[in-house]
Order: sequence, then C-alpha cells, then structure tokens
Amino acid sequence: MGTNGLVMLAWTDFVGLTRVRAVPRTLIDRRMRFGLGWAMAGQALTPFEDIADNSWGPMNEVRQVPVPETETVIDLWDDAPPLHMFLCDGLIAEGTPWAACPRGFLSRTLADFASETGLTVATSYEQEFQLSGPGFAPGPPFTLEALRLGAAFADQCVAALDQANVDVQTFEPEYGVGQFEFACAPTAGVAAADRAVIAREAVREVARRHGMRASFTPKPTLDAVGNGLHLHLSLRDAADRPATFDADRPGELSEVAGRFAAGILHHMPALCAFTAASPISYLRLGPHHWSSGYVALGVHNREASLRICPGPDSDPAARSEAFNLEYRPADGTANPYLALAVLVRAGLDGIRREWPAPPLVACDPDGLNAEERQRLNVVPLPETLTDALSALDRDHVVRRWFPAELRKNYINVKNAEIDLVAQNGLPKMCERYRLAY
Ligand code: GLU
Ligand code: MG
Repeated sequence: MGTNGLVMLAWTDFVGLTRVRAVPRTLIDRRMRFGLGWAMAGQALTPFEDIADNSWGPMNEVRQVPVPETETVIDLWDDAPPLHMFLCDGLIAEGTPWAACPRGFLSRTLADFASETGLTVATSYEQEFQLSGPGFAPGPPFTLEALRLGAAFADQCVAALDQANVDVQTFEPEYGVGQFEFACAPTAGVAAADRAVIAREAVREVARRHGMRASFTPKPTLDAVGNGLHLHLSLRDAADRPATFDADRPGELSEVAGRFAAGILHHMPALCAFTAASPISYLRLGPHHWSSGYVALGVHNREASLRICPGPDSDPAARSEAFNLEYRPADGTANPYLALAVLVRAGLDGIRREWPAPPLVACDPDGLNAEERQRLNVVPLPETLTDALSALDRDHVVRRWFPAELRKNYINVKNAEIDLVAQNGLPKMCERYRLAY
C-alpha cells in the first residue's frame, strides 16, 4: 500500500446506504478524535437525490468519528487503489452520541439488553444480491455452472472478505438470475452489523472492479426473485455459553429464547418499518417466495418469518452452539444497525413481560384456515410500507424505543420514498432501487 491515497470515513444512514467523507491517508491520525463534520440533514436523504423534510436546520452538524476497530483495508488490485475505510459513530460532542445515529442506537440497545437480562446477542447477517453487467452470463439456479461463470468474481470476493476480516463462512449461487448469497460467522454486539456493512461494500467493490454491479435491492425487477437479508440471532449468557437451546422444550427453544421470539413476533408488523424498509420491500415479501408473508415461528420453516435453525449435530453441546433464530422479512434497504436494534428491543420486551414461546407452525402458513391461524396466532405481514408505518404508529411500545429525533425523521424519509414511488410507478422505481443499492 502506498503512503498516499484516500481513507474513507463511512457510516450507514437511515436508508441503509453507506455514505462517506474522505481524507488523505497522511492526515488520518488527526481525524481519529473528532472525525469530520456532516450536516445532520444528510440523514434525511432518500436513496436518490432528494432530502426529505426533517427537523434539522442548516447549522446542525454531527461529527462522524472513526471507530478504530472497524478499519478495513482491501488491497487486491494493480489498477485501483486499496479500499481503505473506517466506520464511524455519529457524535454531537466528544463521547456524546447523536440521538439519530443508528450505530449508537444499536450500542445502547445491546447495552440495555445485557444489563437487564445478563445476556448478549450474537448475530450473523446472510445477504443475497444480484450480479449483473456486460460479459456476465448467469447460470441456472444453485449450479456449479452459475458459480463458475462468476468464478473470478466469487474468488476475489472471498479474498476481499478475508482481507476485511469479516470471517466469511459461505459464498454461493442462489435461486434467482445472477443471484448469489454469502454469510459471515456470528459475532457479538455492534460488530456484527459492522461486518454486514463492510462485507457488503467489499462485494460491491469487487463487482465494480470486474465492470459489474452487485445489487442488494429487495426486488431487482417486478418479476425477479427477491434478495433477502436474513438475520440469524443467538443468545449467550454472562459466561459466554449458548442460551438459545433447550432440548426439552418445544422446538428446542430455551425459555428465554422463547420469550425473545414472542417479543419479535408480537411487534413484527411495526418492526417491518425498519427491516423491510422501502416501498419495494413489499414486492419481495409474501407467501411462496421463502421471503415470508406471515407472522409465524417454525422449525426449519422457510415460509415462517422467524425460523428456528437447529444445526445438524446431535451432540447437545455442539447443537446448542449452532442453534439460532433467523428473522427473514428484512432486506438490503434496511439499515443493518436499526434492523438488529428493533429485533433486540422486541425480544427484550418479550423477556420483560415473560411471554410464553409462540406456537410452532409446521406448514406453509398460507395454507392454514382462519380457525388454525387464530389458534396459532398467525397474521399476515404488512402489505406495504405504508401499512408497516401505520403498524409502527399503532404500536406504542415500539414507538417509545426511539428518541423523537430519530423516529420522526426516519418516518419522514420513509414517507418521502413512498411519495416517490407513487409519482414514478413501481417498474421505474425497482430500477432506481436496483441502481442505488
Ligand atoms: N430469496 C429469498 C428471500 O427473499 C430467500 C431464499 C432462501 O435463502 O431461503 O428472502
Ligand atoms: Mg438464500
């Protein structure tokens, strides 16, 4: 790596895009303490060029301050400089978090969770994306052909993810045309969301270097297979032992994990405003796409919005280590910090209220009749972002989790996206989201 070049200070905003300011590498040391200023109103950017109505004026500035342990250097190319970046915390003064910084909101959420329950949350984000570009010929779903047609790209992705230290575990062709998926190992705390952001940017970069685009949009075109962002969550106790598994309970879900799951299911319609965060997210959701269409918990069930994922091991220690819950109605338009934070807040609510584990749904919930749905507490997910925002408005518990500065401005941005789609129509907006994500 040369001595010159740029270091990017990066953060992920409400719409889940990574924004940056950059400084010459020679000047990074003096930026480590106070970072760079950024207009708070920038947090109200839609994924496009518009800024939504917001509560910030022309003089309100946040400092985007680099977090040392997020430093990432990917140096793989002779004909392009290294990708060198830090992720940032938004601070309003030294050590004082900005209420509308998603990373800070997640940190506070995880700290509250740990202090109330004595537990930590480990998360792995599984990300699907669509690769496209001149000279790239997609192969049939899941095939060796599909992977080898993108072999140079896929191999370099793994090399880049390796340099980024995100502990990539899988990288594979998926069902859709040009669709791939990768996952990183579970990590405790905010670092899991950092990994998701770093990994996604690494993959986008490798695609760029190959003259292609990796798009994490939920729905590349109206009839394309959707791209999901699945969050795998597991709980660990104060001694860092797994706490999600109990062989003697239904679905092998521990008592506390059952309560955690109950909280997520109870609040799920409102959570969708943060996890299925764009108007086109709702083109992906719905029955029979394995993206989930109903509030439901099931073992291995890919039509359930919350899926219990037991590992293959029958040895109790190994089984309990791998055991996790997968939240499926999330996609790449979500801010990964906010998405995880709302799941943890919801889980905490279930634990506080000592809710029993939800019933297990052992079939496609779309096939249940009205009476079975009522018995199993299965309800449809919101059908539009407007519905999800209404659910958020009605859910007074969820509304209270957020500082008003975060909640109100977030909702404004989402309403601005809804208006843009209403003005331009869905096909055009799918294309714009595909290009933005
Ligand atoms: N593409 C599906 C989604 O939109 C997920 C397929 C799978 O990995 O089960 O979530
Ligand atoms: Mg998948």
